Parts: sequence; C-alpha cells; structure tokens
Amino acid sequence: MKTILSRRHFLNLVGAAGGSTAVYKTSMALGLMQESGPMAKLDLQDVSGRRKTIAILGAGLSGLTIAYELERAGYDVTIIEASHRIGGRVLTVRHGDTVDEMGQSQVCNFDDDPNLYFNAGPARIPGHHRRVLHYCKTLDVPLIVKANMSRPAYTYEENQFGNKPQRVSQYLSDARGFLSELLHKAVDKNIFDRPMSAEDLERMRLFAKSYGDLDDGGKYNGSLRAGYKKDGFVRPEVLHDPMSFDDLLNSRFWERGLAASENPDWGEPLMEIPGGMDGLIKAFVQNVKSPIKLNAQVQAVTLQNDGVDITFNRKGKREKLSVDYCFNSIPSHFMNAIHNNLPAEYMRGLNALKPGHGYKLGLQMKERFWEREGIYGGMTFTDQRIGQIWYPSTGIHSQKGVVLGAYQFFDPSGFFERMTPTERIEYAANCGDKIHKEYSKYIESGVSVAWGRMNYMMGCGAQWPGDSRERFYKMLQQPASGRHYMIGDQISYHPSWQEGAIGSAEVALLDLDERVRAANKVTANG
Ligand SMILES: Cc1cc2nc3c(=O)[nH]c(=O)nc-3n(C[C@H](O)[C@H](O)[C@H](O)COP(=O)(O)OP(=O)(O)OC[C@H]3O[C@@H](n4cnc5c(N)ncnc54)[C@H](O)[C@@H]3O)c2cc1C
Repeated sequence: MKTILSRRHFLNLVGAAGGSTAVYKTSMALGLMQESGPMAKLDLQDVSGRRKTIAILGAGLSGLTIAYELERAGYDVTIIEASHRIGGRVLTVRHGDTVDEMGQSQVCNFDDDPNLYFNAGPARIPGHHRRVLHYCKTLDVPLIVKANMSRPAYTYEENQFGNKPQRVSQYLSDARGFLSELLHKAVDKNIFDRPMSAEDLERMRLFAKSYGDLDDGGKYNGSLRAGYKKDGFVRPEVLHDPMSFDDLLNSRFWERGLAASENPDWGEPLMEIPGGMDGLIKAFVQNVKSPIKLNAQVQAVTLQNDGVDITFNRKGKREKLSVDYCFNSIPSHFMNAIHNNLPAEYMRGLNALKPGHGYKLGLQMKERFWEREGIYGGMTFTDQRIGQIWYPSTGIHSQKGVVLGAYQFFDPSGFFERMTPTERIEYAANCGDKIHKEYSKYIESGVSVAWGRMNYMMGCGAQWPGDSRERFYKMLQQPASGRHYMIGDQISYHPSWQEGAIGSAEVALLDLDERVRAANKVTANG
C-alpha cells in the first residue's frame, strides 16, 4: 500500500530528528512559513552545563536579540559596546540627552516632559515586520497606530503652484481625476492594443468614472475627495477648483509622496511605541541579565582554531575576551580599521558594503499649530532639502509637540552633516516658514542627528552597490571559520529597518544552533 507522507507528518519526522531549528528551516524551505514571519519562538537547544561562551559586539537591536535568545538557551554571553549608551541606531532623544556627534555633541533642551521626545532613528513599524512585532508582544511593549500619510497635510514645492503649499488630498484627487479622464477618452476612442469587447469598454468607462470621480460625460470637474474649500456642514459645501493639468505635471509630488503609502513598509496602518521607539530596547535590557560593557571599543577580532579573541579598549585600558563564538554588529565600514584575521574574501564582502546617510531634526513647538490646520499626524512633503515635516500622532490637543523638522535618507552630499546644530535649526525654520505661517516663531528648541557624523556609526543604512549583494551576501551570512557571525540590518535585504536587524540575528542563531547540535551529536556518539 502506498503511504502518503503529509507535510505535517514530514515536519514531525524532521522535528524528531533535528529539533525545532530544523523544523523552522524546513518550513521555510517548503514555503510553509512566510519569510517575514511570524518568527517562531526560537527553541534553541539548551547548552547549560556545557559552558559555551559568546561575545556580542555592539548593543544595538541585533546584538540584544542574540543576547536575549542565547541567554535563555544557557550560553554565557558578554556584550561589548563602544558607545556610552545601549540601542545603537534605535535612538529616542529627550530632555537632557547627549547626542554624540563627532566634534559637536549636543544636549537636548526639550522640556522635561515624557510626551516631548524625538525618534532620531526608527519611528515606524509596519504590520508585516513580524519579527519586531514578535518581540514587542513577547516583551510586553505597547504599540499604537501611527499616522504616516495624511491627506490634509501639504505638498510644497518651490516655484510650483504659485509658491503655495497644496493639500495632499487635492493633489491626489486631481491627479487621479485627470488620469481617469484620459482613460475615459482612450475608451471612447477605443485605442487599445488588443480589440476590446463592448462590455469591457463599458466596464473600463465605469472604472474610470469611479476611480477619478468623473461626471457622466467622463470629465473631471473637481471632487469632494480633494476636501472642502469651505462650509459643508450647516451651509452648502464649496469645493476646490481642480488644479491645472500642467501644474500637476510640473510639480514633482508624483516622485515623492504620490505612492509613498503603497510601499509595504510605509503602508497604513503603521505602528509606533508610545513614549519613544527605544521602548523595545528598554524591554530587552530588562530581560537580558548578561553583562553589557559600555564605553568599550573593539579594536581587534582574532579567529583562533577553537574560538575568537576580542580585544577592546575600556576606559583607557586594553582588555581581552576569549570566547567560543562571536556575533559582530559593528558597522561593516569600521572593520578595516579593526585588526582582524578574517578571510580575505570575507573582508572584501564587508568592504563592498557602503554606509548610507540619514538625517533627522526634531523641533519642540510651543503650540500645536498644525492641528488648527486640520492636521493630526502624518507628513508634509517638500522639495526643499528638509524633505519632509512629520506631525506627531500622539499628544493630540496638548499644548506642545515635537515635530520632525527634516528627514533626509538618500542625500549623500552631506548637506546637513556640514552644518552646526544651530545652522540646521535655522535652515529648517526657513523652509518651514514657506509651508506654515510663522512656523519659525513656534520653535522653542531643536536637536538633530546626522548619522554620518555620529560616533561609532559614521553612517546608517548600509548600501550594496552594483552586484555586491549577489557576490557576497550568502558568504557574509555564514560564520567566518564557523565562529564569527556578522549580523545587523547590514546583513539583510532590509537595511535601515529593525526587521532586517532581527532577521539577521535569527539566521545567525539558527546556524549556531545547528552547529552546536551537530557537535553535541558527535560528542555523544563518540
Ligand atoms: C534615520 C533612521 C530612520 C530609521 N527608521 C526606521 C523605521 O522607521 N523603522 C525601522 O524598523 N527601522 C528604522 N531604522 C533602522 C533601525 O534603526 C536599524 O535597522 C536598527 O536599529 C539596526 O540595528 P543593528 O543592531 O543592526 O545595528 P546598530 O543599531 O547600528 O548597532 C551597532 C552597534 O555597534 C556599536 N559599535 C560600533 N563600533 C563599535 C566598536 N568598535 N566596538 C563595539 N561596538 C561598536 C554601535 O555603537 C552600535 O550600538 C532607521 C534608522 C535610521 C538611522
């Protein structure tokens, strides 16, 4: 009789033979588990009593994930962090905090108020970042919905629309209206590559009408979707006149905000941690008992036959730690300056990765003027170098608020990095004045983080130029000599996202678990 092996039965057999790690990997291979999670509880083999030592280089999110998981599996873990603080790029700045920028450190002068803070690194968590959400849930970190796009916010471009900010709702509605009108005309003329039936043409006409809010003749005359120009409650509404098609085309909003929320990572609804995104870091710290050595800068990484030696400088003293395995989240662009005997091809891979640039500025505003303009959360887009203005989704109707006054990620010119902190605030204030009346008058204080100048970072969001990812990625996911794991969002397809950082940790942990299980089997048999 033919036996049918169901996938569930097969996984049970795999589990019996190789433990939960093997089940996890096999589930992935069979396509039974989404690559983006949910991250299974990593049931790593317990090594208590067999003293396996671990060094984690860097106390950012990837390092803390490794510490949390390995500690629970009985490993002996030490974390070595160069900075004075834990969290790496997960940085929430509050009253009295020091921003450790090379050559010009700043102290945050926001009011001493738990609602006034600025997420200088991560600020958004999408619903498909299941690993991040897994830890938020496991560690009891609260989450709230964050408005990302806001239709009442603005698009402002210099020399467009008479130099006046336009409501996003109007741009979106009019752009859709005009495109739908074109589609309707194309249907009327039946100018398609393949013949269309009369029914199909009618369906397309109806689609165009509904998509663009066209009149019965297929014309766009403006729409309520663009928002009320005035009235509409106790008096009849007055709608906006549609923008001119030329204005729409000349504006480059379609490059910036038009489809922003259609990128899954920015798709509504997003989430955030109330009180600051470092809430997840704090939760890890509460749940990790292993020593975290701060102000300890790694200076050498030496592979040995049976482990790894780490040399670091702490408070002016050189210290050495010899461990069985090392997990390294130090930004790859630093590894050339850290003495090491990592294989030449491995180093070529690390050198191929280039640091990205990121810049954010937080401004404490003495009044929440944007709420008077009908804006509650979300962002304004602009072609000025500040890029965006974000309005807080929290603290609605309170007196003050912290606005993100500038956000640049893809500008490699170092424009803001070259400025002093005061110049950055002045620059952003000028840009803001073109969008909101008397914006600059509301600014009480500001603090900026130019990641390209931050100590122990000197960049963010690693880039893989050309074909470097194809060449080196798989190799860098493997441990050098079976002992040294490179981790962090830099070793992921999602650099600049926490999900990438935790994902890289997960891959490394599963690999270690497999090696340790295999080694234990040999010892037991042998
Ligand atoms: C501007 C910005 C916006 C972002 N927005 C989002 C977002 O909205 N959502 C999201 O999910 N993610 C976002 N991210 C990405 C997120 O912050 C990262 O993916 C994540 O924090 C990376 O964690 P990591 O452990 O890989 O690296 P890091 O946090 O960079 O950790 C590396 C650690 O190594 C330490 N180190 C460096 N040199 C040494 C040395 N020689 N010795 C010892 N330690 C050393 C560093 O101090 C640091 O603590 C954003 C990042 C930035 C910068």
